Amino acid sequence: MLLTPGPTPVPEFVRKAMADVTIHHRTPEFEKIFEETRTLLLELFDMPEAVILASSGTGAMEACVTNLTHKKALTVNSGKFGERFGKICDAFGIEKTELKNEWNTPVSVEDVVNTIKADQEIDAIFIQICESAGGLRHPVEEIAKAVKEINPEIMIVADGITAIGVEKIDTTNLDAVVTGSQKALMLPPGLAMIGLSNKAVAKIESAPKGYYFNLATEIKKQKTNTTAWTAATTLVIGLGAILKHIKENGGYEKLYSDTAKRANATREALVAIGCKIYPQTPADAMTTIFTEDAPAIRKILKTKYNVNIAGGQDHIKTSIYRINHMGLVEDFEASWAVNAIELAMDELGLRTFDGTANKVFAQNMFKGN
Ligand SMILES: *Cc1c(COP(=O)(O)O)cnc(C)c1O
Repeated sequence: MLLTPGPTPVPEFVRKAMADVTIHHRTPEFEKIFEETRTLLLELFDMPEAVILASSGTGAMEACVTNLTHKKALTVNSGKFGERFGKICDAFGIEKTELKNEWNTPVSVEDVVNTIKADQEIDAIFIQICESAGGLRHPVEEIAKAVKEINPEIMIVADGITAIGVEKIDTTNLDAVVTGSQKALMLPPGLAMIGLSNKAVAKIESAPKGYYFNLATEIKKQKTNTTAWTAATTLVIGLGAILKHIKENGGYEKLYSDTAKRANATREALVAIGCKIYPQTPADAMTTIFTEDAPAIRKILKTKYNVNIAGGQDHIKTSIYRINHMGLVEDFEASWAVNAIELAMDELGLRTFDGTANKVFAQNMFKGN
């Protein structure tokens, strides 16, 4: 049972949709598929423009940094992925200011506002919606609203790789939203998508940057349902299949509410057996538990109960574990995971097993408390 917060399992109907012969990307056949997929994607982002790139999520992050920063970037670092935005700026010699916090701590709206007020050079802000390093939810929508009231020209770039497809994101004040194939969208790795505002498109077109990741070129091509370079045809077909499936099976609202419910039931179940939630503001994409016994618990889960969950990275590598809620996770999978954690804690002498985790999970998931 793969319950890591990316990659997530690829459903059978998606694997089947991608199993056919490779079609040429410069054909009316593929253009039709691209058009359908693009329409579904625009709906998912709820934004006026979107591009699909053949790269992992980091490629889309890089494209946003290079195409949307003309002067100076503000990056928010509360974990590995926020740190990455800063490293991309450094790699391209783009000037930046970084707001750094511990990995369990969201950036405050006030800190962002004070930083942009004090530095008029900043013309783009880069932030994760969910920082997957600790399963942390940043107050992105509030930040975007506050920043736009001060200066609507500042680009708000949100990394939504573990947020798009997890919860409804209010994109009203966002200029670019990045996502990737292998997290909430349940596809194999290799595809990245960016939702764009009209303001972002105008800024990109005002000074095209780069070559492979030149978003002006991509926007121009993708508006006509083709791509600048060879499209990742198989993955685009998979993307169309998953988005269509979601739409035909209760829609995004159902997906979001199911995910939120499962995430909540998991948190409640684990707190009930004495686990400590790591982030101050947990995202629904994953549940992150802080414990020095994380490696031992993960090992028992994997060897004895057939559950694969993730650990941490860098300085919290061995002090957290993370359980995925993204995608089409079955309720019985999540319920088995919390049950297995209680069994593992019993084996490690951390508590006596009495089925509390499973009971609390079921109560929250199915009985409404
Ligand atoms: C997984 C992830 C990424 C991108 O990683 P890739 O390995 O390049 O696909 C970026 N941001 C967040 C928040 C992620 O979870």
